[in-house]
Amino acid sequence: MYFTYEQPKIDLSDEKERKRIVDEAYANGVEAAKSGKVADYIPELAKANPDDFGICIKTRAGETIAIGETQKRFSIQSISKVINLAASLKYLGFRETFSHVMLEPSGDAFNSILKLDTVSDLPFNPMINAGAIQVMSMLTNVLSFDELLSFAKAFCMDDGIYLNEEVYNSESLTGDRNRAIVYLLKSKGVLQGEPEKTLDMYFKMCSLNVNAESLANLGLILTNRGQNPLTGKHLIHPGYIRTIRSLMFTCGMYDESGEYGVLVGIPSKSGVGGGIVASAAEMGVGTFGPALNKKGNSIGGIAALEHLSHLMRLNMFS
Ligand code: GLN
Repeated sequence: MYFTYEQPKIDLSDEKERKRIVDEAYANGVEAAKSGKVADYIPELAKANPDDFGICIKTRAGETIAIGETQKRFSIQSISKVINLAASLKYLGFRETFSHVMLEPSGDAFNSILKLDTVSDLPFNPMINAGAIQVMSMLTNVLSFDELLSFAKAFCMDDGIYLNEEVYNSESLTGDRNRAIVYLLKSKGVLQGEPEKTLDMYFKMCSLNVNAESLANLGLILTNRGQNPLTGKHLIHPGYIRTIRSLMFTCGMYDESGEYGVLVGIPSKSGVGGGIVASAAEMGVGTFGPALNKKGNSIGGIAALEHLSHLMRLNMFS
């Protein structure tokens, strides 16, 4: 972690300078990844290579900069929570969605059950497991998995996204904590769908195989207020994008969201597969680095995004 209020004097209109900054961000990511660990609580994820690293940037102006492992596929994991929330807002609306899940950072680990049992019957936000499972319980009543998969493909501008059966089976077999969450929600009478169907769709969405480029595209669509910049098609109402990006900013990096918000300052979402999507003012960024820190966030991805944010002045509040 480093921080300085010195504003670097860099000519960002110079393509070479932009490329140099991304090169440095990549190098920082590779270096930082050495001190991380791949997730192993889902056995299939333990097979990832901790040295993999890639970064992809896509700007509204149409520029793409990609370095390292940006085409290698990995499971989207918790980044699917952004897509599930977008679908819920689109098909059920703001009022219905947030009648069943709150909008508050939890300050707890992504898979925590603590506050759900002791503080509130409703999950704190859609970016943690309890909240995402609750959102999924609503979605099971209006969408099939195939429809959600199509929505994910459109949001990531990537027709190549597919269900990783190995990860899905591995999660289904070992996801007892998520099973506990769904039944706790049911026992409180707040769950909106059938528990096993809810879990199944939740696991499937976590097991979609994406790459750093698809995440950069997702970031770009969020940056572009929900409009595909190539086709001009609006995927959801721009007002919903504001809600999604706000929740990404306050809750997208779990119990590291506060520190990340200060040091990077870009609405972002991470997944234990090693991905991070970031939606800055003029660009989407996707990083892939399966070596994680203790909070379950990609350690290389955070290092790279910190560098990028500082040198490209991407912090929302700068
Ligand atoms: N599928 C994972 C889980 O539910 C997602 C967690 C994550 O990416 N942080 O545990």
